[in-house]
Parts: sequence; C-alpha cells; structure tokens
Amino acid sequence: MKKVVKFGGSSLANARQYRKVKAIVTADRTRCFVIPSAPGKRDSKDTKVTDLLYRCYDEASEGRPYGPILDQIKKRFTDIIDGLGLDLNLDFEFSRIEENFLKKAGRDYAASRGEYLNALVMADYLGFPFVDAADVVRFDENGHFLAEETNAELAEHLSTMKQAVIPGFYGSAPDGTIVTFSRGGSDITGSIVARAVQADLYENWTDVSGFLVADPHIVKDPAPIETITYRELRELAYMGANVLHEDAIFPVRRAGIPINIRNTNRPKDPGTMIVETTTKRPLYTITGVAGKKGFCTVTIDKAMMNSEIGFGRKVLEVFEKNMISFEHMPSGIDTMSILIHQDEFQEKEQAVIAGINRAVRPDSIELESDLALVAVVGRGMKANRGTAGRIFSALAHARINVKMIDQGSSELNIIIGVKNEDFENAIRAIYDIFVQTEL
Ligand code: ASP
Repeated sequence: MKKVVKFGGSSLANARQYRKVKAIVTADRTRCFVIPSAPGKRDSKDTKVTDLLYRCYDEASEGRPYGPILDQIKKRFTDIIDGLGLDLNLDFEFSRIEENFLKKAGRDYAASRGEYLNALVMADYLGFPFVDAADVVRFDENGHFLAEETNAELAEHLSTMKQAVIPGFYGSAPDGTIVTFSRGGSDITGSIVARAVQADLYENWTDVSGFLVADPHIVKDPAPIETITYRELRELAYMGANVLHEDAIFPVRRAGIPINIRNTNRPKDPGTMIVETTTKRPLYTITGVAGKKGFCTVTIDKAMMNSEIGFGRKVLEVFEKNMISFEHMPSGIDTMSILIHQDEFQEKEQAVIAGINRAVRPDSIELESDLALVAVVGRGMKANRGTAGRIFSALAHARINVKMIDQGSSELNIIIGVKNEDFENAIRAIYDIFVQTEL
C-alpha cells in the first residue's frame, strides 16, 4: 500500500498547521510521498506566500524597492522554522533567490519558490529526502506540460525511494527555466506523482472535509458527499464547486487511482472519495447541486425554421466567428435559443445580432439577460423515477419560474435556467427536497 499526500497552503500556513501535517503523515506509514504547497493564508485577511512572491518579483524586476516584501516572505518561513524548533537556515537559499529575481529569472520562477522552500522545510521536519520538482517535472519550450516524459522520469527517480517530499506547482523546461502550472497547481503535481509511483490512493489534504452537496454560502451546513465519480465531479466543478484543480483529475483517473479529499483540521472526517465508478449508492438521489449566475439567451424566431436545412449551423457559425462559446441550445419548432455567458456576449451583442440577421433572416431576435443555471447532478438519478418531477414541484412551491430545462442524455444531470435573483432560492429548494426530506 502506497499513498501520495498533498497538503494545501492553509494546511501549511504556520508551525501549528505543520504539526498537524506531521501527525497525519506519521499516523500512517503508507503515506510516503508528500507534496506541499506554499504557505497559505493564516486567516482571512492574510496574504499567500505565492502572492507575496509575485509582488516581490514585480518590484525587483522593475527596479523598485522590494526589500520590505522580501523580508515579509523570509519572516513567514523563519516563523515556521523557529516555531517547529528546526535547525535549518534558509539564508543561502534567499540570497540565491534575490540574485535570480534581479537577473529577471521570470515570474514562474518567483512563484515556485514558495513550494520549493516549503518542501525544504517539510523534508527537514519529517526527515524525508527532498526531490526538486525542477529535476523531475518536465515542460516543453512553450511551457506545455509533458505528461509522458514526466511520468517516466518520475517513476524512475522515485523507484528506489521509500519516502520523499516533492514541491508542488512547478517543473522545468529543457533549458532549465522554471515553469509553473496555473494557480492551485500543486494538486496537479500530487496527481502526477501518484500516477508515477502507482499509488493506491491520492490524498489531497485541504481545509474542508471534502465536497458538500451544496454551497455552504447558500445552504446552511450542507451534507457532505461521501463518494463522487469523476464524471459527477466534472459537472459540479464546471458549475463552480471548486475544491480541486480540474487538471489534477486526468493523471490519476487514467491510472485508476482514487482521490480522497481530506481536512487537515479535522483528520478524523472521512472526506470525499473521488472514484471512476462505484456500486456505492449515493446517500440521496442527487449527489450535488451547484450553479452559476450571469448568463443570457438569444432567442431566434422564424416560421418554418424546422424545415430549413442548415439553419442551426448558420446561427452557431455567427457565434463561432465572434469567438463566443455557447452553453446550451434549447429549441422549439420555430424557435431556437442560444445560452451564453453574459460577459462574453455583451460587447459583441450588436455584431452577433447583425450576423444572425444576415445569416438566416429571422422573424425576430429576442435577448434575455441575468439568468442563472442550476445543475442537479447525480449518478443515482438514472435509477430513480420522479427526480425531475420533484425538482420542478420544489421550484414551483418556492415560486420560482423555470426559464430553461436540459437533461443530459446520460441522465447524470438536469440543468435548469432561472432568473439570477431566484438562484439561491432555487438551490435551497432543490437541496431541501432531496436532502432534508430524504433523511
Ligand atoms: N501556491 C500556488 C498557488 O497559490 C499553488 C498551490 O497552492 O497549489 O496557487
């Protein structure tokens, strides 16, 4: 049994958090490869070390005074080192970092130093060897991640090691330049390492006990999700349920390794298991409900549209030419609606209308803005009758007008369009009908 454990920034924000991490790692001998993020926020008003590094680099590379920010970063690390009573000195590392900042080593280099230094501290604290991600995580000269090369390199490098600490978030290009993943990218490193060492489990430790059935800002104390499939997670993540970096899914998914989201502050909580497939029945008919605001629809009306071959293609081509991606396309016999992101559409609105007029000569075009989408997701819906009925009666009881309905053909989700102002109430009504009444 082998586990890869990744700890997020808030799990490593200070010495107190570090102690929790050590207790977690040492409680289970199979937790052998540790991926740390950079120190995150200690409280809601704090700044992440990664953000301080970006700021410090921008000042240094533009010849402005950067000393105070650099001191702030140094203090974050010395506080941790002193708080843990370690005999570790990062002076040499910091002088090399400062030199490289002045030589304009790049913003990615700058940002990556948070993970690099934190991994040095973690390796010292746990007594595990340190492996620099720059030596094993590969990018090409254009900054694209090289999955297969990295997998081979990492597998070989780690094959002889029983334990290691590997910093998250970055790797290097062929010329040695440091390249980072997008923000939150330590999740990806953890997933890549899990694949390379053929781990049995990838544990991702953060500050929440996994995914919740609904957003806790909208629903009070929502129920946790015990098990979720990768496909369900994709649907919910797209709708804004963000606990894990989306790109972290692919390496482990391909290798059939489950992910367990865990809470460093509540290590006894089982968290959420993310799996490819499962026979485990979800606790409720739905696995989760999430959504987003800020959509609008363009509704095109034309008599006999249904018999005009190529009508849909011509309309969609107008959106394509204007570089607007569409989300959904509910249609009637003589009408067709295109649902798009409002902010993407707004500046191009008149160009799109003119384009549609030229392309298909419609009878009318109507716009409706300020719409929200709510996605009800669940592998359990396929086996249950009446799910849609319950959703819509719950919405009707809550006096919410449904503007659009779309059930994916996989029966994994039902997407409902409502007015922005009804969004929160819609989520609460759906949560209540499935979770509260199914208890
Ligand atoms: N430290 C990086 C960030 O703040 C990467 C990570 O935390 O995963 O985005």
